[in-house]
Amino acid sequence: MLKVGDIFWSAHYGMSEVTKTCPVCYGKRCVTLILGNDDKIELPCDYCRRGYEEPRGTKTEYEFTSGAEQETVDEVRIEETSKGRKVEYLTFDHHVVREDEAYATKEEAEERCKQLIAERMHDEATRAEHIKANQAKSYSWNAGYHMREAKREEESAARHRARAKLCKERTKEDA
Ligand SMILES: [Zn+2]
Repeated sequence: MLKVGDIFWSAHYGMSEVTKTCPVCYGKRCVTLILGNDDKIELPCDYCRRGYEEPRGTKTEYEFTSGAEQETVDEVRIEETSKGRKVEYLTFDHHVVREDEAYATKEEAEERCKQLIAERMHDEATRAEHIKANQAKSYSWNAGYHMREAKREEESAARHRARAKLCKERTKEDA
C-alpha cells in the first residue's frame, strides 16, 4: 500500500466526439430500397436518425486519447467492511484511484490504457453492428408498412367515393 507523498502511475483515457458522414446514406439522408419487382422506394435513413428526429446525414464517432499519468498520493482512504478492505488514493489533481489501478511503472499504466481503449472500442463496434442489423430489417419493414398503409388509404378513399356516389344517387332518387 502507498502512503501520502508516494508517486505512482495511473491509466487515463479520454474520448472526443467527431462528426463523420453517415456510412449508410452518405449524407443524402435517405436510402433507396429496390423491391423484388424492381420498384424503388425511397426511405429516410434510419442509421443517422435518432428516435423521431429527421435523419441528419452524419454520425458521431468517438476518438480516443490515452496516456499514463504520474500522480502523487495526497490522501489514502481505507474502507473496511465485512466484505474486505478497499483502498483508494486521492491525488493532488483530485483523482480517485483504486489501489489496483495505481501502477508502479509507466509501462504498466500504458498497458492498462491500451486494454481500456480496446474494451471501449469493442463495445462501440458491437453496438454499431447491432444497429446495422436492426436497420436492415426496419428498411424493408418500413417499406412494407408504408405500402400497406397507402393501399389501405386508397381502398378507404375508394370506399368513401363509392358511398358518396351512392348518396348522390339516392338523393337523385329522392328528388
Ligand atoms: Zn444516414
